[in-house]
This record gives sequence, structure tokens and C-alpha cells, in this order.
Amino acid sequence: MSTERLGEALQRLREVAEIGEQAQNVELPGRFSTLVDVVAGPEKFKPDGEEAIPLDRAEELVDLPLEVLQETLKKTGRDSRRAAALLGLAAWWPGDDPEEAWRDDHQRRREELTAIRGIGHELVDRILLVVLEVPTMPLSRSALRVGCRHGWSGLESEYDEWQHLFGHSSEVSGIPLRQIDLLINWIGQSRCGPRPKCEGCPLEPLLPDGGPYEPE
Ligand code: SF4
Repeated sequence: MSTERLGEALQRLREVAEIGEQAQNVELPGRFSTLVDVVAGPEKFKPDGEEAIPLDRAEELVDLPLEVLQETLKKTGRDSRRAAALLGLAAWWPGDDPEEAWRDDHQRRREELTAIRGIGHELVDRILLVVLEVPTMPLSRSALRVGCRHGWSGLESEYDEWQHLFGHSSEVSGIPLRQIDLLINWIGQSRCGPRPKCEGCPLEPLLPDGGPYEPE
């Protein structure tokens, strides 16, 4: 039941959301450049009048001093707070288009990512999903807020229950998990923050009778 209601919500969001290029599947899995985009955000601008340090090759990035990487990220409009995590990821990355056996050992990859400093559970799942194409949903604050407020699940639910909810909704609706991740974060950022702005929200017709449940 919750799965169906979430599926309906996702269909509505897909009709109205503006989630740009990412939603049209331009992200290339198996590339270090995609990993950088996922972790530090996409490049927003090129640094003026100087030779940019390329961020698309792990082997060139791995020996950069932390401060240099922070500065490079800042100059390209990316999140410089992710510099330490990127250095750890550059050391972890086996090279573009990794072998299938390496990609398919999901449990081992998850453990390795979790052990890298500066990478939380949500980001681990997003890297697995986008870069290694593992069917897993990043449980962002937005995903938990929207799910709880609509009564599709509760904060007391376990990680596996949330994964089941989103995974099954993806199967039922035919919407890939990466697109679900983008749609849910889009509604979270535009409407469903710490104080929900339900009036006029595309998901308002799907609220429980008494209005949103409060998860926090
Ligand atoms: S703002 Fe309200 S209607 Fe919109 S997703 Fe959040 S709880 Fe639902």
C-alpha cells in the first residue's frame, strides 16, 4: 500500500520536477569523474587564466596536498569540504571502467567506502548507486522527511525497511532509483525542509487526512 502511494507520488513528481541533466541519465557509471561529481558536486565554472588541475583522473589527484585540492574545488564551484574524502576515494579507485568482479562485490565495496574518512551512509549509497550501479537508495534527510510526513514509513523503521520501500516502488513505478533520489531531493529542497510548505506542493493531494505527520 505504501509502495503504491509512493509510486503515485513519484509519478507526480516526475511530471513537474526540474532536475536537469542528471535526470536524463547523462551520468556515466564506472568513471572517476562521475565519482567527483557525486561527492563534491558538478563543476560550475572554469578557473580564470590559469591551468586547471584535472579532477577526472584518480592517479593525478591522489598525491595532491589537501589544501591544493580544497582550493581547486573552490575555484570550480564544487564543495571544498569534500577534499579529504576525495583523496581517500582517489586512493580507493581501481581505475575507470573497473572489472565486473570488483564492481559486483557490493558488500566489500560498501565496507571499503564506509571506512573512508568523511563519507557517511547516505553518500556511500549514492556512490554505489551512481558510480557502481548498485540498486540502493541514498536515505537522505529529504527521503526520510517526505516518507514519514506521508506515513509511508516511520523514523523507527530500520534501514532495510526503507530500502525495501524505495526499491519496491522503483519496480512498481518503473522509475530508476537514481531518478527517485533526484526527485525526492528536489521536493525536499524546494518544499519539504524542516518546515513543510504543503500548500500548492505537488504531493499535497497525497497527504494523510489530518495533514503531514511530524517526524522530528
Ligand atoms: S511539503 Fe507537504 S505535501 Fe509536500 S512533500 Fe512535504 S509533507 Fe508532502
